[in-house]
Amino acid sequence: MDEDLMDAPLKLLVIEDNQADFLLLQRHLKLQGLPVSCAWIDSMAKLESALAAQRWDAVLADYNVPGMVFGQSMDLIRSRQSDLPVILVTGALGDEKAVDLLKQGCSDFVLKENLARLVPAIERSLHEVAEHRARREAEEALRESEDRYRSVIEALFEGIVLIDADGALQAANTSAERILGLTMEHLAGSTSLDPRWQTIHEDGSPFPGEMHPAWVTLQTGQPCHEVIMGVHKPDGSLVWLSINSRPLYRPGDTSPYAVVASFVDITERKRAEEELRILQAQLREAAIHDPLTGLYNRRYLDETMKRELARAAREGHPISIFMGDIDHFKQLNDTYGHQAGDEILKTLGEVLRAHARAGDIPCRYGGEEFVVILPDMPLEAARERAELVRRDFANLRFAFGDAQLGSTISIGVSVYPEYGTTADELIGAADQALYEAKQTGRNRVCLASRLGPTLNN
Ligand code: GH3
Ligand code: MG
Ligand code: MG
Repeated sequence: MDEDLMDAPLKLLVIEDNQADFLLLQRHLKLQGLPVSCAWIDSMAKLESALAAQRWDAVLADYNVPGMVFGQSMDLIRSRQSDLPVILVTGALGDEKAVDLLKQGCSDFVLKENLARLVPAIERSLHEVAEHRARREAEEALRESEDRYRSVIEALFEGIVLIDADGALQAANTSAERILGLTMEHLAGSTSLDPRWQTIHEDGSPFPGEMHPAWVTLQTGQPCHEVIMGVHKPDGSLVWLSINSRPLYRPGDTSPYAVVASFVDITERKRAEEELRILQAQLREAAIHDPLTGLYNRRYLDETMKRELARAAREGHPISIFMGDIDHFKQLNDTYGHQAGDEILKTLGEVLRAHARAGDIPCRYGGEEFVVILPDMPLEAARERAELVRRDFANLRFAFGDAQLGSTISIGVSVYPEYGTTADELIGAADQALYEAKQTGRNRVCLASRLGPTLNN
C-alpha cells in the first residue's frame, strides 16, 4: 500500500441498496488492511447530502439501486467533486455495459463475486487521481508562470520580439508594436530580409536585412549588443532603435532554435544628442569667429599660423600673409557714426571672403585691422590678390541716408620664409609694409622689405 494512502483512513462513499452487501464490502476492506471509513447511502437525497457534507476519496457504487439512476448519480458526483473516482462494485452486467460505464467516466469495474480486485482498483484509481491532480497543478503552475512572464514582458517598456529558426517573427510585445508602429498582424512571420523594412545605419546608408542583429545572432549563434538602427515606420516617420539580440538554445543543440531581440526607442536621445552636437559645433564656431564680420578671430589666427607654418616647413611651400587696415576709419566713425563704421567693417569682411580660396584664412585681427593667411601662395600672387581686394573695396559705395560713402584700405604683404619663420616675424613684416603703405599715401599695397626690422634683429 502506498505510504500516502496509509496516512489517514480513506473516506469511501458506498452506494448500495443491500445492507448485507455493504457490510460485506466493509469487512473485506478491513480484512485487506486498508484503513477506510465508509458511509452507506441508497438514495439520491442521501448522495446529495453526503457530497455536500465533505470531500470523499472514492465512491464504490452498485449499478442497480432502486430509486437511483446510475447516470444521474454520476452527473451529481461530477458536479460536486469532479475528480472523485467512481468504482463500480456490482453483479455481472455484461462486458458491453461495463465498457459503456467505463466510457461514462467510471474508474474501474469490480464484480461483487470477485472482491479480490477491489483494493487494487481503489489504489489504482486513487493513484490516477493523485497523478491527474499533480499534472493539473503543474500545468496550472506553468500557466501562472507563463502568465507572469507574459505580463512582465508586456509591462516592459522595451520592445521584445521572438524570432524563430527561419528568421520569422513569431511574437512581439505591445511595446514592440508601439515602437515599430505595426501590429502583430503585420509583424507575424516577417523576417529582417523583408524588403518592406526600410532600415538605415546612423550615417543614413541602408541597413541590409542580413546585418540585422537578430539575423546575425541566428546565423552565428552569438548575441549582439546595442546595435543602432533607424527604421522607417509605416507613417513615414523614422524611429531609432538600440537593439540587443540573444540566441535561445535547446539543451545539446549547437544552433539556436530562436532569437530574442529587445530594443528601445532612442529617437529622442538621438535628437537630443544631435541638438547638443549642433550646439557644440555652433559654440566651436563662435569661439573662433568674430561676430561682427563672421571672419576668423585672432585666437584662431594664432592657432592656425602655428599649424600652417609647421606644414609649410614640412612641405616646403610658401605662405603669404597680408595685413589690411581701413584708412581714416576713425574719421568715418566720427562723421557717420559707429553703426556706419560697423557696416563698412562687415562689407570688408565680405570682400575678403569673396577673394579667399578654400584654404585661405581671413581673420579680423583687431578693430579695423585684418590679416589673411594664404598658404602655398608666393609673394607676387599675394600682392596681386591684395591689390584686387584693395581695388574692389575702394570701388564700393555704402548708402548712408542720402549720401554714398566710400572707403579705402591699405595693405602690407609678407611671405614665409623670406620675411620670417614665426607668426610674429611674418605679421611684424606685414605690419611694417602696412605702415609704409600708410606713409606713402594710403589706399595701396606695399610689400615687406627684406631688410625689415624684425629680420635685422
Ligand atoms: P589710419 O588710416 O591711420 O588707419 O587711421 P584710422 O583712423 O583708421 O586709425 P585709428 O587706429 O586711429 O582708428 C581706428 C578706429 O577704428 C578707432 C575705432 O573707433 C574704430 N573701431 C575699432 N573697432 C571698431 C568697430 O568694431 N566698429 C567701429 N564702428 N569702429 C571701430
Ligand atoms: Mg588701425
Ligand atoms: Mg585705420
